[in-house]
Amino acid sequence: MKHDYDLAIIGGGSAGIVAAEVASNMGVKAALIEAERIGGDCLWTGCVPSKTLLASARVANTVRNAASFGINVDSLSVDATAVWARISRIRESIAATDDSPGRFRAMGVDVIEGRARFTGGHRIEVAGRTITAKYALVCTGSRPAPLDVPGLDASACLTSEDIFDSWESVSRIGFDQAELHPYAGPGHWNDPDMLVVGMWGKGHVGRGGLTEAEYRSHFALWCLLAAPLMIGCDVRRMDDFTHSLLIDGDLIAINQDPLGRQGYWIAADGHGWGETCAKPLADGSWAVGFFNTGDLDQRILSVGWEHLGLDFDALADVHNLTTGEKHTGVTRSFSTRVDSHDVHVIRVRPAV
Ligand SMILES: Cc1cc2nc3c(=O)[nH]c(=O)nc-3n(C[C@H](O)[C@H](O)[C@H](O)COP(=O)(O)OP(=O)(O)OC[C@H]3O[C@@H](n4cnc5c(N)ncnc54)[C@H](O)[C@@H]3O)c2cc1C
Repeated sequence: MKHDYDLAIIGGGSAGIVAAEVASNMGVKAALIEAERIGGDCLWTGCVPSKTLLASARVANTVRNAASFGINVDSLSVDATAVWARISRIRESIAATDDSPGRFRAMGVDVIEGRARFTGGHRIEVAGRTITAKYALVCTGSRPAPLDVPGLDASACLTSEDIFDSWESVSRIGFDQAELHPYAGPGHWNDPDMLVVGMWGKGHVGRGGLTEAEYRSHFALWCLLAAPLMIGCDVRRMDDFTHSLLIDGDLIAINQDPLGRQGYWIAADGHGWGETCAKPLADGSWAVGFFNTGDLDQRILSVGWEHLGLDFDALADVHNLTTGEKHTGVTRSFSTRVDSHDVHVIRVRPAV
């Protein structure tokens, strides 16, 4: 059988890009598939930023000890913003040269942007199409895993790699928390990292920023996850949108609810859009977040009463905290229409 490629390399981190170079040198017809950005951990979160940061630290240390070399320096101050700007510059310059998709394309390697998924023997689905390859090299790296220790003695256990101010990073980290709800509770909260709400792509973790809808989803998701709410933006320069989102009392009450349960997913369809997250609350009501993770269209997202432990015909009052609409005596289920990358959060109170 003839395949599109001799070799499909899945993952464009250090391993994948070395493999792509070797494949090109050997005259192998190869595709390099990367879900995020070529360079992987080493360029974006690992070796490059850490060693660049250490280089600045070394300079500061040398200046601090300059007197022992017979050099007097009047004063030393570290400009953290400039240090982070240097890290970003170095990352971007490597991304534009050594790790640039163009460099690999010039070598004859097809660089495909998207998340690869095996769909059968030799068949890989990526970016809405199927390619075939005789061989596949899986270079997808690794992820930090939380320790499976009941009652882990930590007030916040970091459950993700560092967050970036991009929808890709926020949604991946947020929705990746799905399986971790049993491990969260008073005294041992899961921590998917700080909030990037209101950074608008300008902070030291900037990667384009999010839209208003996406920041709304980000904050609602962190509230439903009972995650620590650590503001990442410069609070001295918050715009009105950011300020009103971060002080949303209804959402903060859900986050701080004394029952201390982390929301869990009650529906996620096979196409990867539409996630419904439910969080039981101390007063017997439920918070439900409807997230439209699809990239294009509005979606109608629903929750059935059976997912909230209610009888089919039980009456409940529903307050849509996002739109402000209130509905009384609702039975069976509730549906709402949500824009792409946006969220609606409702509070469902069973009638007593
Ligand atoms: C803070 C820190 C400092 C470090 N410092 C050093 C150092 O100084 N020296 C050193 O040698 N090592 C260092 N490392 C380790 C080094 O970064 C990693 O060993 C290396 O990056 C691993 O490369 P990889 O290609 O295996 O995986 P990754 O770099 O994780 O790349 C995997 C790639 O696969 C992509 N991917 C995942 N799933 C899919 C999919 N389904 N479809 C398409 N793409 C997918 C990801 O988006 C990612 O780009 C450091 C690590 C950290 C965290």
